[in-house]
Amino acid sequence: MRRSQEQTLPDAGGMAPPDKILPLALIRDRATTDLILSGLDASGVAFALFSPEDELSYGSTAFKALFDVQPGARTFADIMRHCHVKSVGPKVAAPIEDFLEMARAKRRSSPQRDFEIDMNDDRWFLVNETLLPGGWLWHVFTDITVLKYNEQLLQRARDAAQLAADTDPLTGLLNRRAAMERLEAEIQAAFRDCTQLSLALIDLDHFKSINDRYGHAKGDDVLRHFAAAGRQQLRGGDIFARIGGEELLVLMPGAGIREATNAAERLREHIARAETRAGLGCAYTMSAGVAEYCGNAAEDLFQRADRALYRAKHLGRDRTEQAD
Ligand code: GH3
Ligand code: MG
Ligand code: MG
Repeated sequence: MRRSQEQTLPDAGGMAPPDKILPLALIRDRATTDLILSGLDASGVAFALFSPEDELSYGSTAFKALFDVQPGARTFADIMRHCHVKSVGPKVAAPIEDFLEMARAKRRSSPQRDFEIDMNDDRWFLVNETLLPGGWLWHVFTDITVLKYNEQLLQRARDAAQLAADTDPLTGLLNRRAAMERLEAEIQAAFRDCTQLSLALIDLDHFKSINDRYGHAKGDDVLRHFAAAGRQQLRGGDIFARIGGEELLVLMPGAGIREATNAAERLREHIARAETRAGLGCAYTMSAGVAEYCGNAAEDLFQRADRALYRAKHLGRDRTEQAD
């Protein structure tokens, strides 16, 4: 009978039941499609099909759970507004209408897009968006929470390793290597932006005698004390580093020679005060050489500050000298 070759298609679970009578080949195709769909659904994959008008045409069980899709929700905007109000599904940082505007501009903007979303329950998903003929949109969601977590761990470990590589362990200041990198970077910035930049090289006076008289541990205390004094006295934007045993550097972006000299003098006077040294148990002084960037290479700035420091030592120590 002809009728045996033609049957009504079965309902495909979220899809509208067809009302047509179809040939057997199509029925087999449809049955296979339904099997694939129900298999995907049962395997827990979150996927969704949106119409060209952005109505949810089909959403897997996992998708509906992920976005807490309510029975009355028809469009992408309905679903997202509900997520926003109930703080479920993906986090929405901007005001919801701004978010929807931004999402509308991005959806269907290319044949295929991948982007990450973070959920209110702290899970992360990779969304693969495929634009189908006629403006239909196919979304597949992959749980990448574990990958994200590992990525954050690696990032933190990398940051910690970088910090350790840049830090002098005794004082917690930047070390010589990091200071030289910063010097190069600040020189480039001053050249590019035509801004002032000054460098102070500081050397603690007769440090060997402090070690000899009070012991090496006390010498270490003095270095830590000086680092703390500098952190307290210098501006937030200044770069303070220990570049040798008892040799330190202050890089002052935006400062001319006068301002930089004043900063070095303030620090020198600060450590000379008895109340500053309370608890340290010994006195110490510093000498400084200050130079202002004048368009030459980093070595030139460094050498001019170093010559000024040498002069400060030669002229009796516990003083600041400016480069010519
Ligand atoms: P000047 O005023 O000419 O700079 O004399 P100085 O004694 O400070 O200079 P010198 O270069 O002769 O001696 C520096 C001393 O700093 C020698 C070294 O043992 C000491 N030193 C270097 N690093 C450290 C450190 O980490 N801790 C301690 N306690 N001492 C250090
Ligand atoms: Mg020295
Ligand atoms: Mg010294």
